[in-house]
Amino acid sequence: MNNHGHNIIIVGGGVIGLSIARSLALRGVSDVCLLEKSGLGTEASFAAAGMLAPQAEADSRDPFFDLLCKSRDLYPEFAAALKEESGVDIELDQTGTLYLAFNEHDQIEIDRRHEWQTRAGLPVEKFNSSDARFLEPNIAPNVSGALHFPNDVQVENRRLLNALVNSVAQLNVKLRTGINVEAIRIEKNHVTGVRTSEETLDCRTVVLAAGTWTSLIHPMIKVEPVRGQMVCLNTAPQLTRHVIYSPRGYIVPRQDGRLLAGSTSERAGFVKEVTVEAVTSILRNAIEICPAVTSLPVVDLWAGLRPKAPDGLPVLGPCGEIDGLIYATGHYRNGILLAPITGELIAKTIVENTLQPELAPFNPDRFSSLAVS
Ligand SMILES: Cc1cc2nc3c(=O)[nH]c(=O)nc-3n(C[C@H](O)[C@H](O)[C@H](O)COP(=O)(O)OP(=O)(O)OC[C@H]3O[C@@H](n4cnc5c(N)ncnc54)[C@H](O)[C@@H]3O)c2cc1C
Repeated sequence: MNNHGHNIIIVGGGVIGLSIARSLALRGVSDVCLLEKSGLGTEASFAAAGMLAPQAEADSRDPFFDLLCKSRDLYPEFAAALKEESGVDIELDQTGTLYLAFNEHDQIEIDRRHEWQTRAGLPVEKFNSSDARFLEPNIAPNVSGALHFPNDVQVENRRLLNALVNSVAQLNVKLRTGINVEAIRIEKNHVTGVRTSEETLDCRTVVLAAGTWTSLIHPMIKVEPVRGQMVCLNTAPQLTRHVIYSPRGYIVPRQDGRLLAGSTSERAGFVKEVTVEAVTSILRNAIEICPAVTSLPVVDLWAGLRPKAPDGLPVLGPCGEIDGLIYATGHYRNGILLAPITGELIAKTIVENTLQPELAPFNPDRFSSLAVS
């Protein structure tokens, strides 16, 4: 390739684009260039809570659930490798997750979840109120029961982003920030490059990892923003050791004393404002879980935009109608969790030039005008 071209261009420097860049570079692919319109890892991936918790919210088993669990289970190795490559500890905390019930309706929900997951042979324990409070003494006294998911864990997603940036920089991926990709250049159904705010760049493969902005670059698949707001509190010592959910919200204790409380799911376009209504409801739900939250100082508030495809599932793999166009978007509520497996499977797809069977249910062509329903 000449000065104005690359082997592969990745659009988007969130956790997904960075994970794919790393996996490609580790497989020996040279001349990978990642283009980011603002700063690396400053959008949804920065806003996330870092929970790696496929079991806590799942009501049945399907290929999506299996993909989530597989990615979660890659994390210990992923964390160790990133530490080696980048020197950054991504604070993979394997204490586990609790899911609390406070009323009859909640209890029915957790009983059902316990039943199907036990039948499926998944690790999950059911606790009564006093067992749950023995494990986490600061949770509310009116908790009626709880599920414990020992394998659902958490990571410090902002440290993960730092680790990935350091790693891909060491692996000689070209990282360019402040470059807005305006369109993908396509000739006779083949990718020939991208048009950016600065220049036109040649390449034969484009990985579209632009999160919630994907459809603005290439409109074939409608990826929409779903806003999530977060409240960050501070406490020392930590009030809880586990990530703790109720059906209405969650709290996530961080090693440095921050306690994250989330979140909302809102259709607000591309607006990342924090609203009084959302903050009020997030704090009400956090207090329901752990009443001692009431006296903590609020140290930060933010919102991020989760990328959601029409069916809520990720969009992963080559576009059948356009040679050289690879999708890696639509990770919605699970992009941090899905980062290791997305990196691996998309890099494998490109290097081996084959369709990965695990990605079949998430193929972009399910939205194609030619798709058979
Ligand atoms: C409040 C909240 C809590 C969450 N909690 C969790 C959680 O606990 N666990 C979990 O797994 N997931 C969680 N998520 C979801 C997770 O954050 C996302 O699924 C994930 O970050 C998506 O990663 P991404 O790289 O696709 O998107 P992003 O991080 O948004 O990255 C996309 C990048 O593409 C860039 N870009 C866009 N358009 C262009 C263009 N034209 N040219 C160049 N660059 C472009 C953007 O600037 C951006 O940096 C949460 C999300 C939110 C908002």
